[in-house]
Order: sequence, then C-alpha cells, then structure tokens
Amino acid sequence: MQLKDKVAFITGSASGIGKEIAIVFAQEGAKIVIADLNKAAADATAAELKATGAEAIGVGVDVTSEDQVNAAVEEAAAAFGGIDILISNAGIQIVHPVDEFSFADWKKMLAIHLDGAFLTTRACLKHMYAQGRGGSVIYMGSVHSKEASMLKAPYVTAKHGLIGLCKTVAKEGAKHGVRANVICPGFVRTPLVEKQIPEQAKTLGITEEEVVKNVMLKETVDGEFTTTDDVARVALLFAGFPTNALTGQSLVVSHGWFMQ
Ligand code: NAD
Repeated sequence: MQLKDKVAFITGSASGIGKEIAIVFAQEGAKIVIADLNKAAADATAAELKATGAEAIGVGVDVTSEDQVNAAVEEAAAAFGGIDILISNAGIQIVHPVDEFSFADWKKMLAIHLDGAFLTTRACLKHMYAQGRGGSVIYMGSVHSKEASMLKAPYVTAKHGLIGLCKTVAKEGAKHGVRANVICPGFVRTPLVEKQIPEQAKTLGITEEEVVKNVMLKETVDGEFTTTDDVARVALLFAGFPTNALTGQSLVVSHGWFMQ
C-alpha cells in the first residue's frame, strides 16, 4: 500500500476523475475526504468507499468560498488527524467564443479553477507545514494547461495558471517536504465532457460524432479517450513519489495529444 494512513483531501471527488482518484487512493490505504459542492453525492461516494473497508468522509464545500474551504479543511483535519495530500480537482466547463463570453461566466470559471486551487492549497499547506511530515499537492490541469482550443478562453487561461501556482508551491514547500505537481489530462468521458459534446456540435455546426472524432480525439495516437484510471494512476505516482525529483513538474496524460 503506497498511501497507508495518508489523509487525502480531494475536491470535486463526488464524480468523474476525482472520484476515481478517491477509489484508487483508498485501495492504497489512504483516508479519503470527498470534498464536493454536491454534499449528497459526496456523502454517497464516501459511503461507497466505506463499504469497501476504507476510511472516508463526505464534506460539502464550494471551493470558491474562503470560509467554506477553511471550514472543510479544518473538519477533515480534525476527523483524520491532519492533511497529507491535496488533490485540487473541482472544475466546470463553459464554452463560448471570446467575443461572446460574458464577464460573469469568465469570473465564475476563474473562481472555480484558480481561486479554488489557491484557497484549498493555502488551507492544506497550513496543516502540512505544521505537521512536519511533508505532503503532496496535485492540481488537475489539462492539455489546456499547455495548449489552447477554440471556445475555451477562461478554461485555457486558468489551466495555464495552475502551472504557475504549482511551481511556486514546489519552491516554497520544499523546505517543508511538500511537493507540487500538475496532471494534464486529454479528454476524459466524464459528465463534464458529455455536456460539451452537444454544445460544441451546436457552436461549430457539426455533428456530435464529428466533435468526438475530429475535435476531441483528433490529435491522439489511437482515437481513444483518456480514462479516469489513466489519470488516477498518475495521481498515485505523484502522491506516492518518495523524493523531490518530480516536484514542480506537470505531466500530460492524453494518449498522444500534445506531446512535449
Ligand atoms: P465532473 O463534472 O465529472 O466532476 C466535477 C466535480 O466537481 C463534480 O462532482 C462537481 O460537483 C464538483 N464541483 C464543481 N464545482 C465545484 C465547486 N465550486 N466546489 C466544489 N466542487 C465543485 O468533471 P471531471 O471531468 O471529473 O473534471 C474534474 C477536473 O478534471 C476538472 O478540473 C476538469 O477541468 C479536469 N479535466 C477534465 C477533463 C475531462 O476531459 N473530463 C480533461 C482535463 C481536465
């Protein structure tokens, strides 16, 4: 077990990628905090994990709220005796051309992806530094942390921004044994992506099948979606890595879309 008794605070983990990371980390012995806007789904996911013998709690939190994030991290640390791993993963997607993007939607996107990452990082670092047993901070970036696509201006902007935050946390956290990384997945067929397929088809004037084949998976080597399992395995690599060798780095996990 690579994460025996480590406490993992995972945002947006009542669904999709975050949920799979929670399942894999629980299998590796971690104590899991399912931190999600959807409290009922967070509780249900925690109950699923507990049914397998894992230790888990569900916490309702909006990652854009300073007070809610601080309270959720305190609740988690009190329940499990600290925080060892943060997966800052909660996210949404809103697609429009730049010239049609409302300022309200721009701010909403940056609040969830960037404010949420900052607030959860700050709250968890306080515990990691005070505990003196190091830690791992992992941001859910995207291929859009490195590359742009049409219609996704705030998403691309925010996902690029996470790389800067990660590098800073890697430098500041080193003396406390805290590492930081970004995972940059290609398209993963979660509810977030299912919602985009008809939206992009409408905006681009093409069929849903064409969106999948010619937009989302066009640049992959195998025409395959990245899976939640692909991403969770990389999260485990970063969270369990024994030295600082990989800190500050981001890794694209995309079946060949955007090779570095
Ligand atoms: P998802 O929609 O399946 O899950 C997102 C979760 O985040 C949901 O449970 C939702 O309730 C929660 N959430 C949304 N807003 C929140 C908030 N303000 N506070 C707390 N929780 C909130 O999506 P997913 O595809 O699993 O995406 C997870 C992360 O992975 C996102 O950051 C996304 O940008 C990133 N990502 C996804 C893909 C993909 O193709 N699915 C690719 C690259 C990166």
